[in-house]
Amino acid sequence: MQTYDFIIVGSGSAGSVLAERLSGSGRFSVLVLEAGGTDRRFYVQMPLGYGKTFFDPAVNWNYKAEPDPGLGNNADHWPRGKLLGGSSSINAMVFIRGAREDFDAWAAAGNPGWSYDDLLPAFKALEDNEAGADQWRGVGGPLHITDCSNAVHPLTKRYLAAAQQAGLPFNPDFNGATQEGVGVYQITTKNGRRMSAARAFLRPAMKRNNVSVETNALATKILFEGKRAVGVEYEQNGERKIVRAGREVILSGGSINSPQLLQLSGVGPSALLSSLDIPVVHANDNVGANLQDHVGVNYTFKGKLPTLNQILRPWWGKLLVGMQYILMRSGPLSLSMNNAGGFFRTDPSMARPNMQLYFQAFSTVIPKSGERPILTPDPWPGFSIGLSNCRPSSRGEIMIRSRNPSDYPRITANAYSTNADVDEMLAAVKFVRKIAATPAMAEIIEEEVLPGPSVTSDADLIQDFRKRSGTVYHPVSTCRMGPDAARAVVDPRLRVHGLEGLRVIDASIFPDNITGNTNAASILTGWKGAELVLEDQK
Ligand SMILES: Cc1cc2nc3c(=O)[nH]c(=O)nc-3n(C[C@H](O)[C@H](O)[C@H](O)COP(=O)(O)OP(=O)(O)OC[C@H]3O[C@@H](n4cnc5c(N)ncnc54)[C@H](O)[C@@H]3O)c2cc1C
Repeated sequence: MQTYDFIIVGSGSAGSVLAERLSGSGRFSVLVLEAGGTDRRFYVQMPLGYGKTFFDPAVNWNYKAEPDPGLGNNADHWPRGKLLGGSSSINAMVFIRGAREDFDAWAAAGNPGWSYDDLLPAFKALEDNEAGADQWRGVGGPLHITDCSNAVHPLTKRYLAAAQQAGLPFNPDFNGATQEGVGVYQITTKNGRRMSAARAFLRPAMKRNNVSVETNALATKILFEGKRAVGVEYEQNGERKIVRAGREVILSGGSINSPQLLQLSGVGPSALLSSLDIPVVHANDNVGANLQDHVGVNYTFKGKLPTLNQILRPWWGKLLVGMQYILMRSGPLSLSMNNAGGFFRTDPSMARPNMQLYFQAFSTVIPKSGERPILTPDPWPGFSIGLSNCRPSSRGEIMIRSRNPSDYPRITANAYSTNADVDEMLAAVKFVRKIAATPAMAEIIEEEVLPGPSVTSDADLIQDFRKRSGTVYHPVSTCRMGPDAARAVVDPRLRVHGLEGLRVIDASIFPDNITGNTNAASILTGWKGAELVLEDQK
């Protein structure tokens, strides 16, 4: 049986960084087990290709959440990357670190080393920001970040002007001094190609001979000797295999799969494990609990000026942008659909923003028959202003439904299950309408298409956003970090409480969600996690 110093389960945003950092000194051998396959695919490499990978089972787990009473009983689509790079290979590429206060709250909850000032050097070191270095930003790191200020659709200027007329300040860098305000999003791309964690970290590491990567390898169980993790069982091409870890097993399967694998291996809520006849290795009710996610909704308008719909819908337009992309690696296909956005407070008495904005010069209200909505631009000049909450108080869970590792776990999101979450979204959708009513916007809007002008009362607005909201793909905290084993899964060094030789290092360890998109903080978790692992090696 083969032994590696470290076995990393999952090659996503965090796992890719771990593979690079743990193998860097040449002292340790590293095995990465990845359930999916290669990231060398056209629609993965091409930034706007995420519209195609959004439902593609070749690269996507395509989870479905349980019907959610908070979402009008909809069973929401939960895409997660299943390939090298994980979700960073299929995400929308918006690069937001999160707010200083988020990380300071992590540290204040008893997690030394996780404050913003502690993490800022790592955030700067991992990035290569096209906009240049300053007090907050780094250059020369492995992860290239593109400044899209001059590339975004012309309509973006209207949105920026309108949001300022509605009272938000212009913010040139959401990862700078403050998050509040409106601005253009920076994205993880380089020269028109997606800059996934695999491209930035894993691919360079794979050139080292102390790194092995097994693809199409589904980890099915962590192997224990007493309370010590000593290896992993996995399935590859219909075969059951076993590998041993000389030093540590590290779970980086993401917020759905890491708790799933722990539960399958006997680490989790004892009642659940007993009901499925899984022998309990270590009981901990927090495994899979505390699920936090951002939910969002779009307001869509029919405009008087052309939007991306006029280019992305007709065959000649597709040809044009296709040529532009292939010949020059530029144009709409080289960008995210989210050209711009912002952060705002729904109540001025709040200390900091609780809502995020997205501007898309594009709309997909009417799907062509047989096509999923996200893939088909509308025939008229449509654009959308999207919203998502930043620190909702609703909590859900991820729990296995059987002992079979191939059965998807039950995802219970409980979106909008608190009054506070409903109230802030109600205030937020009213603010979107305020933006739409500003002179800069009103003069280019033909009509509001969704939800439409007839939806005006609070009750109707709430009913509408419940019906049309969905995840914005930021689930976290299902193996949350904390000093107290009664309230957390991993300790501040990311070691699983009560066990040895086992860590979780991915977005599932966030003690609470951050204000913004979660890829940067997941990559950071991989970076910081690797530091902790290396410090602990004799
Ligand atoms: C459609 C979409 C759009 C998004 N847009 C943005 C955005 O614009 N900006 C942003 O910042 N964030 C965005 N996110 C979120 C962000 O990408 C994730 O938060 C982040 O990638 C999570 O990193 P992770 O390391 O926790 O998990 P992942 O990157 O999901 O990696 C987990 C990896 O583990 C593998 N794995 C899981 N279980 C097993 C197993 N049992 N055996 C072997 N391998 C396994 C998976 O296949 C996967 O490769 C988006 C996510 C999605 C899905």
